[in-house]
Amino acid sequence: MATFSIKEDKNICKDCDIRLTKMSEEVMYKPDELELLNTPKRVLSFHIPVRMDNGEVKYFNGYRVQYNDALGPTKGGIRFHPDVDLDEVKTLAFLMTVKCALVGVPFGGAKGGIEVDPGTLSETELERLSRAFIRETHRFIGPEMDIPAPDVNTDEKIMAWIVDEYSKIKGRFVPAVVTGKPLELGGSKGRTEATALGGAYVLRELLKKGGLPEKGLSVIIQGFGNVGGNMARILHEWGFKVVGLSDSRGALYAEDGIDMGFVKGEASRRLPEIAGARKISNEELLASPCDILIPAAISDQIHAGNARDIKAKIILEMANAPVSPDADLILAEKKIVVVPDTLANAGGVIVSYFEWVQNSINDYWPLAVVNEKLEQKMTEAFSNVSKLSEERNIPLRTAAMSLAFDRILRVERLRGSLS
Ligand code: NAD
Repeated sequence: MATFSIKEDKNICKDCDIRLTKMSEEVMYKPDELELLNTPKRVLSFHIPVRMDNGEVKYFNGYRVQYNDALGPTKGGIRFHPDVDLDEVKTLAFLMTVKCALVGVPFGGAKGGIEVDPGTLSETELERLSRAFIRETHRFIGPEMDIPAPDVNTDEKIMAWIVDEYSKIKGRFVPAVVTGKPLELGGSKGRTEATALGGAYVLRELLKKGGLPEKGLSVIIQGFGNVGGNMARILHEWGFKVVGLSDSRGALYAEDGIDMGFVKGEASRRLPEIAGARKISNEELLASPCDILIPAAISDQIHAGNARDIKAKIILEMANAPVSPDADLILAEKKIVVVPDTLANAGGVIVSYFEWVQNSINDYWPLAVVNEKLEQKMTEAFSNVSKLSEERNIPLRTAAMSLAFDRILRVERLRGSLS
């Protein structure tokens, strides 16, 4: 007699499924809609050989997930980190899908990553690895297909190598294959600080809505890279009191405010020693007193194990997925407002979209124009999310996902991918 077993769907994004299942307590989706939303459209996984400076060949695991392309070419960063794995890349690609749909840019969502600690590579090894990634993916990326960008441990220098490698393979100059490029290669003014500035606009709107003052509120920021470093500088300039900062090596805390004289220049990813600030661990930093906590480093930093210790009244998620779904429930019980990543850090993809448009029309905009358009889009997205959250009495995260999925599902239906 034949035996039957239910086949495990290995392509499903398990984390996205958990998030969607949790969300379906508040918003109902049909089974075919859920299947479409919890499964990436295309998953690329490769093993990349790179010749090291000592002549040996080493292999690296790399991934690119193109999650959903209903609204346009897929878009998302490339991350170089030792903890990168396929499940994480799927989750991040899902979040990009939500983000692009939510803020109304004509892109689907993607993400890529290489399992590597770039700190162990020389400059020439890093360049060979970046170029090798493009040789593996060039058939599947391009300005009308999938457009990568910087993410954790990747920057405009790496984007320049990618433009060069891709253009050589295609035999023509294709700057729009990535965003986050140097200005000289077709980058957009304002792209570097766009994610932080976009998040600051959202925070300002939230405080305005709650009748809270901007000046003097205390802020802790975890991560001091592109996002965290620029956020620290902007909020300090806007009159917030930055009381805590951290990077991967540790954290600094000063109850009366950290002396921020050092953040005038470019963010360096590394915190210097600062007189008057106490050295603590990252775990202690998250639980230290403040009005606003801004995780701007890596995923899953606030989880079931530490969510009860959080003292902030507002969490602005500048990193992707810094709060785990379990922690969300605990934070809701504690009446802590969580501004979701898909809204808070969407400034980066918005200005990436502006960069792609400028490359397409070969006309470049002044910084004031870029920032004005960014402000408009962030303010509008915040207003839509907060309105839906109030109308349906649902968390901001659920409201953001719901708005994004409504747009995607409408287009999927029009395109014939849903019955
Ligand atoms: P980055 O590589 O420039 O900086 C990361 C920073 O986090 C560094 O200072 C690093 O030391 C610190 N860090 C790493 N692990 C840490 C830990 N365990 N504890 C504390 N600090 C730690 O990266 P980024 O571009 O600033 O991105 C930060 C986050 O923001 C990521 O989650 C990324 O996906 C998200 N994000 C970035 C952009 C963008 O435009 N750069 C856009 C949207 C979302």
